[in-house]
Amino acid sequence: MHPFVYARATTAQGAVGTHQLAEPSRDAASVRARSQYLAGGTTLVDLMRLDVMRPELVTDINGLAETPSGEIDFGARGLWLGALVRMSEAADHPDIVQNYPVIAQSLYLAASPQLRNMASLGGNVLQRTRCTYFRDMSYAACNKRAPGSGCAALEGVNRNHAVLGVSDRCIATYPGDFAQALIALDAVVDIAGPSGSRTIPFADLHRQPADAPHVETTLQPGDLIIAFVVPPAPFAKRSKFLKVRDRESYEFALASAAVALDMDGDTVRDARIALGGVATVPWRAREAEASLRGQKLSEEALTGAAEKAFAGASPRGENAFKVALGKRTLIRALRETASMTL
Ligand SMILES: Cc1cc2nc3c(=O)[nH]c(=O)nc-3n(C[C@H](O)[C@H](O)[C@H](O)COP(=O)(O)OP(=O)(O)OC[C@H]3O[C@@H](n4cnc5c(N)ncnc54)[C@H](O)[C@@H]3O)c2cc1C
Ligand code: SF4
Repeated sequence: MHPFVYARATTAQGAVGTHQLAEPSRDAASVRARSQYLAGGTTLVDLMRLDVMRPELVTDINGLAETPSGEIDFGARGLWLGALVRMSEAADHPDIVQNYPVIAQSLYLAASPQLRNMASLGGNVLQRTRCTYFRDMSYAACNKRAPGSGCAALEGVNRNHAVLGVSDRCIATYPGDFAQALIALDAVVDIAGPSGSRTIPFADLHRQPADAPHVETTLQPGDLIIAFVVPPAPFAKRSKFLKVRDRESYEFALASAAVALDMDGDTVRDARIALGGVATVPWRAREAEASLRGQKLSEEALTGAAEKAFAGASPRGENAFKVALGKRTLIRALRETASMTL
């Protein structure tokens, strides 16, 4: 057991302020690692028990559930999803189920009912990889856990690892589902930080591993996610999350596709595509989207989009099957989304 300071916050400013306790002289990534927010704790406490995360300061933010960070709302900016909203609450919300099915499905198909009741939306997008070498301290080589130590997965057991966005330092898969729905729907993130508030595109939140796999997001020390905002869009209602996994429930994705379509009859006016289970970050397939605009969803158009989505894939050993599986998942998701009755 490593001792840590436990603090409680009931306001965003109070939560951000606790970070002054976290040795600001260190570099940004290590200050962020040493100072953690506690929401549902289903990632953080798990990894603290495994000794993978050793924060010196844990700030409990569940008191913010009484603020807009605990609310679901529909306003001028679009759908407001507070960071402290529990996964189950958003998954079961009738307006989200009806008007943003890809969001409801991505949450409903994740984890287990108990976890969904506990886990928050903010914590969900910041969950850490399930790479076994990262989670098991008995393996020395993991650049994400111990920068510069190597990557045991490159030549090791890598069936679940990523084929898109990889580097020679890390091939860990981004494990979450909800993030694919957010990136597909052009969501933005409201953040409170030590130097004030800001809004960034959700697509700018996560970082590919490149030469620094331990730096997973663009968040700075003390940054607190307040909410996700999904702007109104003609494609949100005709949307779907398809998840393929080793067992029917309570399992992470081997491949997933979050798809949204704006159709003019049987022609695609606009498309949004995000891929999960196959990439190091929530993965937007923009070239595949562009290839579908103005097209009917013929076999040729579907196959062409899938080829474009995986054109940059770099399989490594056991995960080579994900390229074919990912393409099939995307094609099926597109077909099923196009045939939805609204
Ligand atoms: C057995 C198991 C199976 C799972 N299966 C799936 C699955 O199939 N699909 C899926 O998507 N997920 C799955 N998960 C992951 C689960 O959804 C996440 O653990 C959960 O969503 C994290 O939310 P939390 O509130 O518990 O986060 P916490 O554990 O409290 O926090 C996680 C991280 O986020 C940071 N954080 C939390 N809130 C904020 C905030 N507002 N601002 C800034 N930083 C913040 C914390 O500092 C911490 O680093 C599974 C988890 C388990 C244990
Ligand atoms: S894939 Fe990434 S997380 Fe897994 S061992 Fe390699 S560096 Fe660590």
